[in-house]
Amino acid sequence: MARLRERLSRSNTALGKALLALLAGGKLDDEAWEEVEDTLLQADLGVEATTEVVDSLKTRVQVAGVVDEDEVRGWLHEELLKQVNPTMDRRIAASRVDGRPAVVLVVGVNGTGKTTTVGKLARVLVAEDKDVVLGAADTFRAAAADQLETWGARVGVPTVRSDREGADPAAVAFDAVKGGAESEADVVLIDTAGRLHNKSNLMDELGKIKRVIEKQSPIDEVLLVLDATTGQNGLRQAEVFAEAVDVTGIVLTKLDGTAKGGIVVAVQRQLGVPVKLVGLGEGPDDLAPFDPAAFVDAVLD
Ligand code: GDP
Repeated sequence: MARLRERLSRSNTALGKALLALLAGGKLDDEAWEEVEDTLLQADLGVEATTEVVDSLKTRVQVAGVVDEDEVRGWLHEELLKQVNPTMDRRIAASRVDGRPAVVLVVGVNGTGKTTTVGKLARVLVAEDKDVVLGAADTFRAAAADQLETWGARVGVPTVRSDREGADPAAVAFDAVKGGAESEADVVLIDTAGRLHNKSNLMDELGKIKRVIEKQSPIDEVLLVLDATTGQNGLRQAEVFAEAVDVTGIVLTKLDGTAKGGIVVAVQRQLGVPVKLVGLGEGPDDLAPFDPAAFVDAVLD
């Protein structure tokens, strides 16, 4: 988690500094509170969460009478942590259950970092001594399967794929789950395509993948990959996916490239599911479990 702090603080300090400067300015008039509000909104915290944080802080400041910088910092930390919801269960289902591999479906719009996330997650799981099988169910682009296979080779795990561009993604997903069961793997990670230009196609395709996998095995985890830099647009995309499949966790990628870390709060609130992993760069080691306290520390550093 030290790395989460280091990576985030580089881009996110602006938020913490701006907020603390405002709050510690001593003159907490309406204008100052509005600026605090704007700063939180600019960080993509969302309207509801921003209103709650500001209302709570106002009350605490009023009750205390005098404003001490350290005290305000502590309050801000507490209020933001509350918004990040530290009690949510953020474990990933990646161990055998009932004598079969766990099945993890990874969904999201193309370009958000899905394939990269599958590769990085495989690496994390292999480091935990897990047997992993990858499924390249993004058959729309042949290059996607190649990209996943490259990750597989790098990490040392097999990739189930089709050589035919446009092959049935549900069939590839089915084969991956079958392959995982036969080799007694711990977990099967399935990459999918995410073409959003045609919402009903996307829903049909994901729905079919889900149905076909479930003929063979329950799906234990559906991870939705969202690009943190896409803000409100990303939230709208998230809703479309949540309609198509039961999302159980969110992976927020590219947090290294944005000062809009507040999106963590907004997306959890909107979907009611936890952010489980965060992407902090393009390299193989740049995926971390999401740690709420470290995250808030990084934002306020
Ligand atoms: P997909 O189309 O959703 O499978 O997306 P890819 O996995 O191909 O990733 C798209 C681009 O985003 C690639 O250039 C990745 O290296 C990059 N990327 C993925 N995750 C991260 C991240 O956490 N941080 C940064 N900076 N780049 C990322």
